[in-house]
Amino acid sequence: MAEDGKWSTVAALLLEWYGRTARVLPWRERRSLYGTVLSEFMLRQTRVAAAIPYYLRWMERFPDFRSVAEADEGELLCLWSGLGYYGRVRQLKQLCTALCDRRSPPAAPSEWQKFPGVGPYCAAAIAAIGQNYDVVALDANGLRILCRLSGLGPFSSRSAAERALRPSADALALSGRCGPISEALMDLGNGHCRAGRPDCVACPLRDHCAVVQRNLVPENFSKFSTPRSRREERRRLWLQDGRGLWLAVGSGSRLAGLYELPTLPAGTGAGPVLRTIRRRISSTDYVEPVHGADGRLEELLVALRSDGQEVQLFSLDELERLPISGPHGRCIADILANG
Ligand code: SF4
Repeated sequence: MAEDGKWSTVAALLLEWYGRTARVLPWRERRSLYGTVLSEFMLRQTRVAAAIPYYLRWMERFPDFRSVAEADEGELLCLWSGLGYYGRVRQLKQLCTALCDRRSPPAAPSEWQKFPGVGPYCAAAIAAIGQNYDVVALDANGLRILCRLSGLGPFSSRSAAERALRPSADALALSGRCGPISEALMDLGNGHCRAGRPDCVACPLRDHCAVVQRNLVPENFSKFSTPRSRREERRRLWLQDGRGLWLAVGSGSRLAGLYELPTLPAGTGAGPVLRTIRRRISSTDYVEPVHGADGRLEELLVALRSDGQEVQLFSLDELERLPISGPHGRCIADILANG
């Protein structure tokens, strides 16, 4: 079969399969451009199952672009708390504010890409799913599927894969159906064409898949070289007295507006480790032992201030309404509940 014929057959099979098996997701049940933008922001770096409760709560409180544009950033951060990658909140607010100042939304992916935080995939997804624009959005699932269907790869980087596979994605584009095709690729990558142990037997595309036809190992056709991860330790402090808990104001673009446990300044002694927070941000694994004050609260507060950390005291009631980063919020709740 000629290549063009192959891709139009694949598109038809994908649509037929998607029509029967599409995942029920809140942003698909009541579709809107705002819902598409919000879901794409939330799904960046976050699994679908983790994003769903946040999406539902957010939609209830902030149902449209204007409500986000006019909201207090602290309230937005509070509602996002636990979802991580908080820069997304500020970028979403900027996008909503800019859209409210325009007569109409952008009409093409290249225009969406001018907003902060909107990369090529996100722009294509918003345009295809939210505006019925004729472009197929390729997330990691889509790239993996096209690698395997075409037998191309492995690639040295994700951008190299995107460049090599864009012609195949363009050949998949059916006028007016690119939104469902993009979503079908996301679902197929989640259900059948998984990164590890794909379910080729039940896959609707198996008769058109290069790795199946050539009896190759699918896992070898989905690899991009990733930066080597590194480990970083950051010691934290639990400073509680009868009035409440001391927290530090986050710094840097990632944590601005959020609160976390203060960082123990280098060379300063503290009490025993109460808990250890572990989290991964991009390619860095952070290990954060949380030390008690061991009766030296005042001395440690002086050390924190000389270290340039802005620390504030919050009553335990206030903590519930405070934007605290997810891992620190869970650690604080655990220590308060279990000692
Ligand atoms: S046949 Fe297997 S490798 Fe090919 S697209 Fe389907 S699940 Fe992926």
